[in-house]
Amino acid sequence: MRLIQRGPTPNCLNNVNPRENWHNFTNSQCYDLLCAALFAEQQGICVYCEQKIHLDNKNCHIEHLQPRSRDQSRSFDYLNLALSCNHATHCGHYKDNQWHKNFFIPPYDPEINGLFRYNLDGKMISSGKDDEKANFMIECLGLNDEKLQKKRYKIIKVMLDYLKIKMDSEIIAFLQKNFIEPDNDNLLPNFPSLARSVLRSIQA
Ligand SMILES: [Zn+2]
Repeated sequence: MRLIQRGPTPNCLNNVNPRENWHNFTNSQCYDLLCAALFAEQQGICVYCEQKIHLDNKNCHIEHLQPRSRDQSRSFDYLNLALSCNHATHCGHYKDNQWHKNFFIPPYDPEINGLFRYNLDGKMISSGKDDEKANFMIECLGLNDEKLQKKRYKIIKVMLDYLKIKMDSEIIAFLQKNFIEPDNDNLLPNFPSLARSVLRSIQA
């Protein structure tokens, strides 16, 4: 997870009846507009696991950071919405109704910065900044799901293989451009926070 700069609320949301049924709303044009706005803010990756999402393939959904079951009045609060991947074993669908007012850190809260780090086997762990919050987030979002961890391990391995060939400023710039930075469409690659942590650890 990484800090996301939130943009203004899309206009269409101001016209939605706060008592509108959420499932009906997901078939509306406004829902599609919100998806597009959140996709741009999140630079094309899942708010939680940081894997690429694709609006066309419908492999994502709008997620309530604070579940609707906890506070119905925030159903259409733009700040409470985010785009999550659709995997069943981690992220939004896995989280479901889990939430905690002290330990759930929304991705627009600067407190999310530096909360996590990664082992070389791809496991996500607390950085030590706040173990209770970091561990709650990892648990409730399933961020150490086996498949997810394996995918992160693959990225680490590829990066370390490049660095084994040569560890100079040219390779580091190459890794930065391909594994961390957004492309020409301002879309990020998979797992940029992980890649940043790998580069930081080898430069330390
Ligand atoms: Zn995800």
